[in-house]
Amino acid sequence: MTFHRQMFIDGTWTDASDGAVDTVPAPATGETFAETAHGTVADVDRAVAAAEAAFPGWARTPVGERARAFLTLADRVEADLSTLAEIESRNVGKPIGLALEEMGMIADHLRFFAGAARSVEGRAATEYVRGKTSIIRRDPLGVVGSVAPWNYPLLMAIWKISPALMTGNTLVLKPSEHTPFSVLRLAELAQDLFPAGVFNIVTGHGSDVGASLVAHPRVRMSSLTGSVATGRALMHASADSNLKRLHLELGGKAPVLVFADADVALAVDKIMEGAFCNSGQDCMAASRVYVHESLHDELVAGLEKAVTTLDLGDLADENTAMGPVITAAHRDRVEGFVERAKATGHTELIQGANPGVGFYTAPTVVVGARQGDEIITKEVFGPVTSVTTFGDDDDVVAWANDTEYGLAASVFTNDLGRAMDVTGDLQFGTVWVNDHLPVTPEMPHGGFKQSGNGKDMSIYALEEYTEIKHVMISRAGA
Ligand code: NAD
Repeated sequence: MTFHRQMFIDGTWTDASDGAVDTVPAPATGETFAETAHGTVADVDRAVAAAEAAFPGWARTPVGERARAFLTLADRVEADLSTLAEIESRNVGKPIGLALEEMGMIADHLRFFAGAARSVEGRAATEYVRGKTSIIRRDPLGVVGSVAPWNYPLLMAIWKISPALMTGNTLVLKPSEHTPFSVLRLAELAQDLFPAGVFNIVTGHGSDVGASLVAHPRVRMSSLTGSVATGRALMHASADSNLKRLHLELGGKAPVLVFADADVALAVDKIMEGAFCNSGQDCMAASRVYVHESLHDELVAGLEKAVTTLDLGDLADENTAMGPVITAAHRDRVEGFVERAKATGHTELIQGANPGVGFYTAPTVVVGARQGDEIITKEVFGPVTSVTTFGDDDDVVAWANDTEYGLAASVFTNDLGRAMDVTGDLQFGTVWVNDHLPVTPEMPHGGFKQSGNGKDMSIYALEEYTEIKHVMISRAGA
């Protein structure tokens, strides 16, 4: 059954100004399951105007009151967990277990931001000039225009919504055209919690709705989670419009370094999770494994056993490990990378099951990849990882850093000194030791190099969405 969802602008549910709609397929079957408004530039204008009108009132609302709205929303999200998870599972093609886990994180993130925003600080206030008191404030910027991706639609949106609203900005959010439904459900849960215009959602494509939002002269900050190419488009749009602030969370190509003293069974478990969770559609996916030559055969044997038995069953079954990828075009793109890796002639493929319906593709390990191969340098964003051997610790750190991406990396070793040295040398925003993938709202997430700038989550994200202001109060006659 196809259902229809409107957009949320200025506190009301609305169709696109020209009545256009987008249909969205379920990745597990390829069949249309829902449709949503295909917003227009006029809709973006209306949403930005509503957000601008709501800004002064929301900016002056005490942070504790904003926090109360967030805490209520967190309770509602928790009570709605199974509906939200069901939407995300169908829309993205996620196994229900993963969708439930993500929805549980949403409530926790809302609660974190509700509390943390109450402790945002300026530095010391004192008389740096005789008779004049200096105070540092952190003030909101105005209207924020945020653009979210399709891989973790609601979680990535929450990383944008929470710091923006909790610091007193108002927001226009554009979800991915592929996955608008969970954030529209969130708006249903939140609609009576925020004054009209504080929180707006315009659905539609990047090329029109997204582009007009990030180029809008009344938007003071744009935040994006998406590809490097889209990040570049935002930089151009900012330069050509009003030099708005940018917050960019972009792609990744996370290396996994398995040193000679590592626990191989642990590394296999964490690589499986890191590479195939969410069908590898994760900016931090464990997408290139470097293993010390002494452990290569044991690691590859472990991966082979795990990949060939990976459960790609019913999405509604909590034991299912992996689903399809997001679209037919993306499946073809992922399979193109695998074909070309095979065509190098120096690799061997280990592949798991492919149900052969919808947008499924087989989980794949490319064994024998060489530094410089496309499979090692380009972001695949699918259920594919590679294995490369190394002999020398310095070489492997140089190979890991030899990339334009810098989002995440992991190190498997039981040698504390080596862990300290290597984590210091790796140029990535998150480095795990003996793990790969976990995140927590208290800690920042963001990239070095072309993986973006700015941090999601943590107190640092709250700071990104504020401007520092110096207020100097002079004594009479001073
Ligand atoms: P994408 O860049 O194609 O799209 C992201 C969003 O930007 C979508 O809503 C899209 O409609 C919009 N968009 C596209 N062109 C636009 C334009 N010119 N102006 C304004 N908006 C535009 O990315 P995607 O395919 O949705 O997601 C995959 C990418 O996101 C991968 O590269 C992945 O690594 C990255 N990602 C990064 C993080 C992170 O935290 N760093 C997290 C998840 C995904």
